[in-house]
Amino acid sequence: MSFKDFQLHPRINAGIDACAYTEPTPIQKEAIPPILAGRDIIGLAQTGTGKTAAFVLPLLQRLLNGPRKKIRALIVAPTRELAEQIHDNIEKMAQKTALKSVVLYGGVGKQPQISRIRSGVEIVVACPGRLLDLFNEKVINLSAVEVLILDEADHMFDKGFLPDIRRIIRQLPRDRQSLVFSATMPKEIRHLAEEVLQNPVTVQINHTLPAPTISHALFQVAKEQKTSLLKNIIKEREMTSTLVFTRTKHRAKSLALHLQKAGYSAASLQGNLSQQKRQQALDGFRDGTFKILVATDIAARGIDVLGISHVINYDVPDTAETYTHRTGRTGRATRSGQALSFASQEDSRMISLIEHNLGKKMLREVPPASACERKEDICEEKSTTFSHQVPQRRRAVPSHQSPQKRSVADSGTRKRSGSIARTLSSVKRRDPA
Ligand code: AMP
Repeated sequence: MSFKDFQLHPRINAGIDACAYTEPTPIQKEAIPPILAGRDIIGLAQTGTGKTAAFVLPLLQRLLNGPRKKIRALIVAPTRELAEQIHDNIEKMAQKTALKSVVLYGGVGKQPQISRIRSGVEIVVACPGRLLDLFNEKVINLSAVEVLILDEADHMFDKGFLPDIRRIIRQLPRDRQSLVFSATMPKEIRHLAEEVLQNPVTVQINHTLPAPTISHALFQVAKEQKTSLLKNIIKEREMTSTLVFTRTKHRAKSLALHLQKAGYSAASLQGNLSQQKRQQALDGFRDGTFKILVATDIAARGIDVLGISHVINYDVPDTAETYTHRTGRTGRATRSGQALSFASQEDSRMISLIEHNLGKKMLREVPPASACERKEDICEEKSTTFSHQVPQRRRAVPSHQSPQKRSVADSGTRKRSGSIARTLSSVKRRDPA
């Protein structure tokens, strides 16, 4: 199958050419035809599979006809980085269509966003908080929305956004096309999808399995030797572009500083940074100014940087799903990548869960003796700091085990369709975490 088979408008095909996509990815092959046919979709796919183009291309095809300078499509995303990425993708793919999009998120001034909305846009890409702010301030009118897209719905749930999402949905016309994308399907997302979607088509792309282009290796190492090991393998393996994950913001910051002081080209990406600093770190990593980006899960979720050669789990993640998300930052589209994890004794249970999810054992690598000689305990925070630095929701609760208090009270307004419930309940979770 080629992109030509979708019979998209030549102006949209020009956008595909501008992105240098030659062949649709599996999710594009499966999702684009039903979306073009106007169907609702539940897409079980993680970032890295090409899902953005899977919804953007048919969206542009629909918007080419019909009124301009009215908000006709709303895309909601859980993080600023993901919202920016979707917006960038739209700008690239829509460059010959004269369709306009705006991206809305908090932590930056409202005025430029308001000016852009007032100049007339057809597509809004937004994080829930800022969108509701602008809606409540009557800056934004959602009464003409024809298409709603919820991206990374499971992550919205992790971040406690579902009540906001339901508030947003209540402002939209009932007669619309809705698409929900999620890497996993915890019951809260299943309920949300039942409320939002009508007779949806389910599209599922290996949703909790890491990409086959990634190799997985494990170093069993004492905590205090991780930093020395990291520096050693960065040097030895001539890593071109390496994303390092730590569990906390404090650790990300102090590890990046330590690497900088030791002469490495490194930056951190973590929630304590201003939006401007985050963007600088991300842009610098993307353009090669920084070879190493040390990040937390929340900050790095959904980031799309092509050509990441290595993902290093300096700290083993809390769930097998998070492992999939982290390692999915390398090996994107069809490229290959390596995932290396540093595990100490206490991580053995999580390593078993990850390996169960991978369906294979990770390759055991022996840390070089020189890496084990030095104890560089620079990144251990004091326990008092630790407790308030931890991103609370993600640490405490695996994404699919919601505490009572997070279950959402404001249930949706639409009738549940029996067929939707059946379609969704047939989607089995694979993640053992
Ligand atoms: P996404 O899952 O949307 O974040 O996409 C992951 C990466 O794959 C992005 O860098 C896209 O630009 C890229 N991509 C999307 N579709 C294709 C395609 N058909 N061929 C090659 N790369 C693609």
